[in-house]
Amino acid sequence: MPAEVLAQAADEMLDWPDSKGERCGMAVMEMSHRGKEFLEIYTQAHDTLRELLAIPENFKILFMQGGGLAENAIVPMNLSALRASKTQRGSADFVITGSWSEKSFHEAGKYCDSRIAASAKDTHFHSIPDAASWDLSDHASYVHICSNETIHGVEFHSLPDLQSLGSKAQLVIDFSSHVASRRVDWSRVGLAFGGAQKNLGPAGLTLVVVREDLLGHALEACPSAFNYQTVADHQSMFNTPPTYAIYMAGLVFQWLKRQGGIDAMEARNMAKAQLLYGTIDASGFYSNPVALACRSRMNVPFFLHDASLNDAFLNGAQSAGLLQLKGHKSVGGMRASIYNALPIEGVHALVQYMQEFERTHG
Ligand SMILES: *Cc1c(COP(=O)(O)O)cnc(C)c1O
Repeated sequence: MPAEVLAQAADEMLDWPDSKGERCGMAVMEMSHRGKEFLEIYTQAHDTLRELLAIPENFKILFMQGGGLAENAIVPMNLSALRASKTQRGSADFVITGSWSEKSFHEAGKYCDSRIAASAKDTHFHSIPDAASWDLSDHASYVHICSNETIHGVEFHSLPDLQSLGSKAQLVIDFSSHVASRRVDWSRVGLAFGGAQKNLGPAGLTLVVVREDLLGHALEACPSAFNYQTVADHQSMFNTPPTYAIYMAGLVFQWLKRQGGIDAMEARNMAKAQLLYGTIDASGFYSNPVALACRSRMNVPFFLHDASLNDAFLNGAQSAGLLQLKGHKSVGGMRASIYNALPIEGVHALVQYMQEFERTHG
């Protein structure tokens, strides 16, 4: 979270001020989600996000709950039948580029025929299989990718153009961990989803952006609260939405605008990533195994050449105020998550610490 946003939320915590600065006598958490105060918060968050991410008018923005993992089930419940007849089980293709897309593939299998169109598992998820080599099915309703693999640090720097690959399937992207860090080419996307907690705000809010013409194909068994059509018809208020998380995300959206919008954030994120990868590559002490063309700008896994120094590295980092650097247990080593809210000074501090550690332990 940007520190500025946390300070604003603290100031507004007990008595929320409306857009004219008038205090309303209530905390956001105490508001009715149908009251005019919350409606103002919701509308501003919704409209600012559309503007920031340049989301075309024919896409619905849904504020849901359940996180990225729930969407792994909700997406196939809503989209797998798009291109299937009433009696057929729908199907979906998956491109496996790390743990998150692998999870999505397994979960979808409960609701449709989920197929692997390509996988980088054999090469330890160090690269993205070339889209021209994907084995796309003729009748898949959609192709799922995780556009930024949070654990393996692998990012799609451009989205595949399924149409030009001869596919009639819709592209579904899990953009949980890099949403709002860069532009999205909506002309290639049918649906994008993401948990809010990496780049947008607190946990509890899940963002879904879906093209209107994909609505209305949910499986019979799909819970009403998870039916995109129902959620869209009720402006994300079919049931009580995660109001406080929407409010916080709204403050982050306004903060992003003040930073200069998504293009400015993208430039900042590129500079941050270059600084960190540059330091890793220039050293003989640290390494990152991911192919240059698909290194994540948000999540940077790196390894010390001598893994027995890991604990010393982490302890020293902690003392220097550099927190949460331990890599995911499935990968080991270190991982620096350098999300939008982290200023470049944070990366400078990390790089300085890394160089100092190398000098004293190398
Ligand atoms: C964090 C993350 C999720 C998270 O799911 P939750 O259900 O919100 O915990 C899903 N996909 C990706 C790529 C993530 O990074």
